[in-house]
Amino acid sequence: MYDVKSLKAEEFISDEEILETLAYADANKENVELIDAILNKARERKGLNHREASVLLACDMEDKIQEMYDLAKQIKEDYYGNRIVMFAPLYLSNYCVNGCVYCPYHLKNKHIARKKLTQEEVAKEVIALQDMGHKRLAIEAGEDPVNNPIEYILECIDTIYSIKHKNGAIRRVNVNIAATTVENYRKLHDAGIGTYILFQETYNKKSYEELHPTGPKHDYAYHTEAMDRAMEGGIDDVGLGVLFGLELYRYEFAGLLMHAEHLEAVHGVGPHTISVPRLKRADDIDPDTFDNGIDDDTFAKICALIRISVPYTGMIISTRESQAVREKVLPLGVSQISGASRTSVGGYAEPETEEEVTSAQFDVSDNRTLDEVVNWLMKMGHIPSFCTACYREGRTGDRFMTLCKNMQILNCCHPNALMTLKEYLEDYASPETKEIGNKLIEQELEKIPNPKVKATATEYIHNIADGKRDFRF
Ligand code: SF4
Ligand code: SF4
Repeated sequence: MYDVKSLKAEEFISDEEILETLAYADANKENVELIDAILNKARERKGLNHREASVLLACDMEDKIQEMYDLAKQIKEDYYGNRIVMFAPLYLSNYCVNGCVYCPYHLKNKHIARKKLTQEEVAKEVIALQDMGHKRLAIEAGEDPVNNPIEYILECIDTIYSIKHKNGAIRRVNVNIAATTVENYRKLHDAGIGTYILFQETYNKKSYEELHPTGPKHDYAYHTEAMDRAMEGGIDDVGLGVLFGLELYRYEFAGLLMHAEHLEAVHGVGPHTISVPRLKRADDIDPDTFDNGIDDDTFAKICALIRISVPYTGMIISTRESQAVREKVLPLGVSQISGASRTSVGGYAEPETEEEVTSAQFDVSDNRTLDEVVNWLMKMGHIPSFCTACYREGRTGDRFMTLCKNMQILNCCHPNALMTLKEYLEDYASPETKEIGNKLIEQELEKIPNPKVKATATEYIHNIADGKRDFRF
C-alpha cells in the first residue's frame, strides 16, 4: 500500500506505514547500536528517512539526545552558516468558508471581526512593513471563493511588488493560501511568488476529517496532494508544516518526513521549507481543549531532528513561539524566523486596540519590534538576513537544491546576509543596533574564504553606506 512515488495521498502518506514506523521506533528506542548507526549516517549529511528519524525521536537517552542537538547545530552551520533569514506574515483577509476547529477564522465564528484589505490598505500595510525594514513577506488569506478568489490574491501580489517607499521594497512574496488547482498555481507562479506554503495541519486522515468537518478543506486527499499540483503548475519551491498539538506528534513527524520523501522521489526536489507551528490560544480557541500539546523539550527535539533528517530544507519558527523558546531552538537548526508580526488583518498600519473585536488568527508570543529582534539575534552571534537573492537569481527548485546539497549555498547566504543587514542598519536600525551590526559585519567579512567574493562584498557594503541598494550574489 505504501508507495513513496504514488500521487495518491493515502499511498504516499500511508497510515499503515506510519503505524509500523512507530512500532519499529518503540522497539528500537534503546537499541544503541542502531541509534549510533543512524547518527553516523546523519553525520555523513545524507539525511534520514522517516523510519530512522522516528527511532531517534523515540529515544530518551540523554547522551544520545545531546548528540542529536550537537549534530543539528553543526549541520545548520555547515549548510547555512550563522545567518537567520527574516520575514513577516501579511494577513490579507480572514473571510473563510472552512470549519477548522482550531482556527478562529472558521465560518461559524460570528464574533471575530471579518476584514479584507482593499488595494489601498494593502499598500498601507506594505509601507508600514517596509518602514520596519522587511523585504520578505508571507501573505495569508482564508479560503473563500467569493471574497478571496485567486484574482484578489494576484492583485494583492502585484500591489505588494509595486510599492517602493523610500529605500524600501518587498523583494519576495511567499504565499500561504488554501489548496487550489494546477491552473491557479500556474497563475501564482506567473505572478512571481517565492515559496508556496501550505500546512498539512495533521497527516492523520481520521483526525484531519474530524478537525475539518465542513468546507472544501475537509477533503484530505485534495489538501495532501496540493504540493504535487503546485509543482505541476510550475512552482518550484514549496513549504510544508504541521500544526503540532492536533495529533500525536510522533505520527505527525513521520508523516511530515514521508511527505518530504515523496516530493523528492516524484519531483526530484524536496520541500524548500518546513514550518513547525504549535497550536496557540486565539479568539474562541483554547489550546487546552486539544490534548496532544507538546512541551518545549519535545518541540526542541523535533526541530533538531528535522534539521538532521532534511539538512537542505529551511526551517521556520514564527512569533507563535516566545523569545525563550526561540532561543532554545534557534541553535538547533532554525534558518528563518518572523519578526514583529501582526496576525490581524491590517494590523501593521493600524494595530488593533485591546478594546476592539480582534481579527487575529492567533496570539503572538513574541511581541518585540524588528529592531529588538535584529539586535537580539546579533547578540547571540547570528546574522539577521533580509536576503531574497535565490528566487531573484532563478536559483529555485533543483538548482537551489543542488547548491544546497553540495553545501555551496553558504557562499551566497553569508555575503548576502551581510549586505542586506547593512541596508537594514543604514535605513531602519536604532543607533545601538547599528553599532553592533556594523561591528558584526566587519568581523564576518573577514571570514569570507574566497578573496574575490570578500573584495566584492566589501565594495558593495561601502556602496550601501554611500546610499546604493540591492546588491546580491
Ligand atoms: S486554518 Fe485556514 S482554512 Fe481553516 S479556518 Fe483558518 S483560515 Fe480558514
Ligand atoms: S542566498 Fe538564497 S538561500 Fe541564502 S539567504 Fe539568500 S535567498 Fe536564502
